[in-house]
Amino acid sequence: MNLEKSAAAFEEAKKFMPGGVNSPVRSYSSVDCTPPFISHATGSRIFDIDGNEYIDYVGSWGPMILGHAHPQIVEALKKAVEKGTSFGAPTELETELAKLVQKIYPSMEVMRMVNSGTEATMSAVRVARGFTGRNKIIKFIGCYHGHSDSLLVNAGSGATTFGEPSSPGVTQGTAQDTISVPYNDISAVEKIFAQCGEEIAAVIVEPVAGNMGLITPKKNFLPGLRKVTEKYGAVLIFDEVMCGFRVALGGAQEKYKVTPDLTCLGKIVGGGLPCAVYGGRENIMRNVSPDGKIYQAGTLSGNPLAMTAGIETLKILLKESSFMEKISKKTSALADSLKIKAQLANVEIQVPQVGAMFSIFFNTKRVKNYEDAKSSSDDQFKMWFSEMLKRGIYLAPSQFETLFVSAAHSAEDIAKTLEAAAETFQIISTHFKNEIEE
Ligand SMILES: *Cc1c(COP(=O)(O)O)cnc(C)c1O
Repeated sequence: MNLEKSAAAFEEAKKFMPGGVNSPVRSYSSVDCTPPFISHATGSRIFDIDGNEYIDYVGSWGPMILGHAHPQIVEALKKAVEKGTSFGAPTELETELAKLVQKIYPSMEVMRMVNSGTEATMSAVRVARGFTGRNKIIKFIGCYHGHSDSLLVNAGSGATTFGEPSSPGVTQGTAQDTISVPYNDISAVEKIFAQCGEEIAAVIVEPVAGNMGLITPKKNFLPGLRKVTEKYGAVLIFDEVMCGFRVALGGAQEKYKVTPDLTCLGKIVGGGLPCAVYGGRENIMRNVSPDGKIYQAGTLSGNPLAMTAGIETLKILLKESSFMEKISKKTSALADSLKIKAQLANVEIQVPQVGAMFSIFFNTKRVKNYEDAKSSSDDQFKMWFSEMLKRGIYLAPSQFETLFVSAAHSAEDIAKTLEAAAETFQIISTHFKNEIEE
């Protein structure tokens, strides 16, 4: 695999942007590889400027559930772009997307469109605080909710403590109001509510966690969160930015039958353009300006191109009643086959999967929280990643990321992926054999 042009482009980019990128994970710093610079993508395939072609399981980190450059979306965008790209004034498109979102997420009685998942979660937390008049929030260690200050907090190794900022620039004062708890630990949450439940504005959770690799909720976890937040009058926020339209059309709330007070959507809802949504119970959302006093605004919010891509995407998802069933089956078959290929090579992996998302942990045990995820083998993952890339399989450069299957992945794509995986597991097995025997 030749990445000469990408390497040169990367050097040039580094002069102007931190790490040469506009979002850190793209720099591949965790895997010591040159990031391919992308020229274009279509369907399940992504192409770099050196002319390499890859089967893409990143899908722009989630949005591309229909594959890249879907003809119906491209057509609609071409028509929309000729009518002007931004007005900063209301359009019927916004209501059309809101109706589609509400049809799929009935709990979102009133909603607001924003430009990124970060904005959606940040605003939902503000609304929860404004509505309850309380300051503290609970989040889970290893859950990512975008990079707003209140949410960039992580208590560190498994302890249930008041937050330490996990980035310079987040003040101690802000971090103090964020309480971090291990994922899937409902009794830890109940203990905190018993201590200071009257001060807690909200619990925010990825109902299916996808930002520490894929971790599914234990049976009692989401119902437990619903119960305890109701008891203390705290707002339950489901951050479905990743798992919305992915684990089921109606997200985790449909799949696990637990209804949150507020929901955040992003990624798929914008069909590959910058768009996210937050919304929920009417009595909470009517407190948002200008109906209420909680301020939130956006110059490009409800942008006509983003609305168009979102509308077309949701229409396609709604049109085919078996869409989710088909894509889930495809993904679970891929996950099962990966496990078998690894077993045949004597490599121990975990392949959690829900709907059209899965991930791979080089771990001997099932992963239930961030501590478990961190115990996975980094060295085996690095080898897996670079050998798969060489074989034309484009994966996320970290086992703390989730992988995504799209409607465009064909049986041939899956077969090629499994062939590459079988070879790669053999290489890993041979390389690490001595270590295992020692
Ligand atoms: C991606 C993601 C976000 C942040 O969305 P951006 O559009 O990157 O700001 C928030 N929450 C979850 C669960 C995500 O996966």
